[in-house]
Order: sequence, then C-alpha cells, then structure tokens
Amino acid sequence: MMTTKAKAVLITTGIRESSGVSQLISSQRPWGMFSTGAVQQFLHFTRQLPFRRPVIIGSEWVSYSVVLTLKKAGLAPVAIVEEHSNSIAPYWVEKATSHGLRIPIFKQSSLSRVIGTDTVSGVEIRRHGRRIELECDAVIFTGKFIPESSLAMDSHLEWDPKTLGPKIDQYWRCSDHSYFAAGNVLRPVETSGIAGREGQSAARAIAGILNGETPSGECIPVQVESPLEYVCPQWIRSPGIQLNSLQLRSRMERAANGVIKMICNGTVIWQKSVEAKPLQRIRLPVRRIKPDQLRRLEIKFVERWIHRRFLSCDNTL
Ligand SMILES: Cc1cc2nc3c(=O)[nH]c(=O)nc-3n(C[C@H](O)[C@H](O)[C@H](O)COP(=O)(O)OP(=O)(O)OC[C@H]3O[C@@H](n4cnc5c(N)ncnc54)[C@H](O)[C@@H]3O)c2cc1C
Repeated sequence: MMTTKAKAVLITTGIRESSGVSQLISSQRPWGMFSTGAVQQFLHFTRQLPFRRPVIIGSEWVSYSVVLTLKKAGLAPVAIVEEHSNSIAPYWVEKATSHGLRIPIFKQSSLSRVIGTDTVSGVEIRRHGRRIELECDAVIFTGKFIPESSLAMDSHLEWDPKTLGPKIDQYWRCSDHSYFAAGNVLRPVETSGIAGREGQSAARAIAGILNGETPSGECIPVQVESPLEYVCPQWIRSPGIQLNSLQLRSRMERAANGVIKMICNGTVIWQKSVEAKPLQRIRLPVRRIKPDQLRRLEIKFVERWIHRRFLSCDNTL
C-alpha cells in the first residue's frame, strides 16, 4: 500500500454496466453471458467473437452500438429485448435497426431466465404475461449503467442515492472541498465527449482554487422531483461562479408528457413542453440562473395526463 498526499483530488472513476448477475436474472451461470465492454474487448484483442447468435438485452445507445460491433464481425443478433414500451435510444435508431437491419425488437418484454447448463442455449422472456423462448448462444447485457463510485461511497463524501455518485457543486467540488468529481462517476450516463469536457472544466476549477480563488457562497440544494430522476450538480453556491453549459443535467425516470419548469426564487424562469422517453437526458439552460441572486432552485416536470395508448409507439413487435 502506498500513501500519497495532495491538495486536491479529482475523482473520475467512470461508469460500468450492470451484469446479468447484478440484475438478478435466473440462470445456472452458463458460459456465454457478456457485457458490452467484454464483447468490444473480445473483438478488439482476438478479432473474433465467441458466439454466432446472441440476444441483446437493453435498447440504449450502447445496445445499438453492439449491433454495429456485431455487424463488423459479420453477425446479427437474434433479437433485442427491452422492458420499456419504447427504445431508450431515439426512435430513428430503433426504426433503422428493426426495419433497415430487420432485427426483431421485443418491447415491454423482460428477460426472466437464461437457459443452458454449461453454455447458453436460449433465453426466456416474459411479454404481456406470456413466456417466449428464443434460441441463442449468448446473452449480451447492455446499458443499465452504474457510476463506479465505490471509492466515494466508502468514504466520508456525501453521496446521492439518485445519481449513485458523489454530490458536487458548480466548482465540481464534493462535500469535502479538497475532493472534486467529474465524468460519468457523477451519474449514469453521458457520452465520452461530455465526460472528457467535464474533466477539463473540473481541472480549470481546481487550478483556480489552488491559486487562491476560494468559493465561499451559501450552499443551495437544487430541488428535483419525480418523474425527473436526479439533477447534477446537486448544489449551487450563491454567490458563486456562473454554471457552465455542461452543468445542470437531469434524466427522466420514465416516459412522460408535460412541461419541464425551472423555478428560481419562486419564479418560473424557463419552461418547455417535453414528450419524454424513459431515461431521456434533460439539459437545462443554465445561463438563465444568476447564482449571485439565487436563494432557491427547483426543477419540476408538470405532467399532462393523456391516455396511455397515445404515449406508446409499440409498433415493432
Ligand atoms: C462498456 C461501455 C461502452 C461505452 N460506449 C460508449 C460509446 O460507444 N460512446 C460514448 O460516447 N460513450 C460510451 N460509453 C460511456 C462513456 O463515454 C464512457 O464511460 C467514458 O469513458 C466515461 O469517461 P470517464 O472519464 O468518466 O471514465 P472512464 O473513461 O471510464 O475512466 C475511468 C478510469 O478510472 C479507473 N478506475 C475506476 N475505478 C478505479 C479505482 N477504484 N481505482 C483506480 N482507478 C479506477 C478505470 O480503470 C478507468 O481508467 C461507454 C461506457 C461503457 C461502460
């Protein structure tokens, strides 16, 4: 064990996908259950894949990127299985896959069992109360990202049970002001471009603080409520520096139709109609917030109740 001393520590431990084991899927642990990362590494290091007919679980961007990885290896999945009524990735990606590549997408379907003793021979999915068996030789669990925040969780730093990452303010500072966090350790999940730019922005904030700029404003918690799942950063210092365009991001916990509102000191300063998909990321216009005058900030989603059938575009399978 080695101990190193530092004036500032930046936590950027990223994110990981949850495996079939952590998703509590019933199986006899046969060989043939992979994460996206494992599939990408197999192809990168061995130039081949150890299966021919996998089933993909999940329909996030990364799930469709697995379809492209398989295509590169001359393979196509047997099917994509998604528990929500719509793909998590945009509609056009789903259409291009189901119509263009003719890959079946089972929506509102959940994986109930992986079949096989030594190796995977199929999966059982549950759809509208029915059980369907699909023959396959591998299962690829995609998405369902979780911040790799065990370091922060086991430490004295305040941790957000909604993002599953450390809480930060607009200086990327954690509850202990010598610690900073940026990138996907903060929440599930942004693209690599955003994670990289967050790292740069955090590095600039750390340099400023080490050079004597000491933020001292009052800590204002940003309030967020269902169906919005979380908000990051969780705190804004007032007075304090203006948030930058990478900051104040939220995510839908489920599909919903309504108006998203940003309410500052009791006044609506911004609102927008949104027809949101489950897990859709929401970027909020930070320029409207004046941290010098901030006493209270709430992000609300006021739902417009319409019949469920209008929300579902379940027309693939
Ligand atoms: C499988 C997978 C596929 C993805 N595909 C895409 C894609 O195609 N396009 C896209 O835009 N985004 C993708 N992402 C999402 C995101 O872009 C990446 O997670 C991105 O690399 C995040 O950058 P980061 O700097 O936050 O963390 P990372 O780049 O993941 O860096 C984290 C680093 O911390 C290290 N680390 C973790 N824990 C510890 C510890 N306890 N001690 C020491 N070191 C530790 C890790 O080894 C790693 O080097 C993907 C993510 C995953 C998991």
